[in-house]
Amino acid sequence: MSKCAMTQLCTYEGMFMMTKEQLQAILMKDKTYDGKFYCGARTTRTVCLPSCAAKNCKMENIIIFDTLQDALKAGYHPCLRCRPDHLEWQGSHKELVSRTKALINTTYKEKFSINDLSGKLFVNGSYLARTFKKETGETLLSYFNSVRCEKAASLLARKDLSISFISSETGFCSASHFTKVFKDHYHCTPNEYRKRSNTGKLKKQTL
Ligand SMILES: [Zn+2]
Repeated sequence: MSKCAMTQLCTYEGMFMMTKEQLQAILMKDKTYDGKFYCGARTTRTVCLPSCAAKNCKMENIIIFDTLQDALKAGYHPCLRCRPDHLEWQGSHKELVSRTKALINTTYKEKFSINDLSGKLFVNGSYLARTFKKETGETLLSYFNSVRCEKAASLLARKDLSISFISSETGFCSASHFTKVFKDHYHCTPNEYRKRSNTGKLKKQTL
């Protein structure tokens, strides 16, 4: 490739990736294209919806992303005016649910907050709550608590760990809150659960 062609390719990188249809959508600030693709401004490192009125940069500085995730991965920040991060999730609902579950599985020790979860997943909070309930039949809080209880149940098998230690280790604010939530989930207190699982072990050994 000649030096001239290289320069041209670099300067118009965004243009090369933009179709005529996308260019038209940006020029017309066409709302029907919002969510179908995203515009990154290379000068400010912000990412916008095609219709964003705040977007005021030269066409050659605009780079097109297919998804918001791609833009975020590339280091772009969601524009505070058009809020591309508040647009409903463009992927499948199942994908959002599995990403939510994976996130909860690693953050269950933190305080439960729909805002924190939705912020980390780059979606609107009420949309996330609604989609999760629709897909799984349970609320985000219920799933969050069930993850905590399952982690606690596995720790209860270890007799050397106290209830209050297990409670704080699984993110509960107090042992009484832990007992209440655990009872809702397993229909017995953590102590009863521990006794039962120990009895179960004894029975198995005698068989
Ligand atoms: Zn914008």
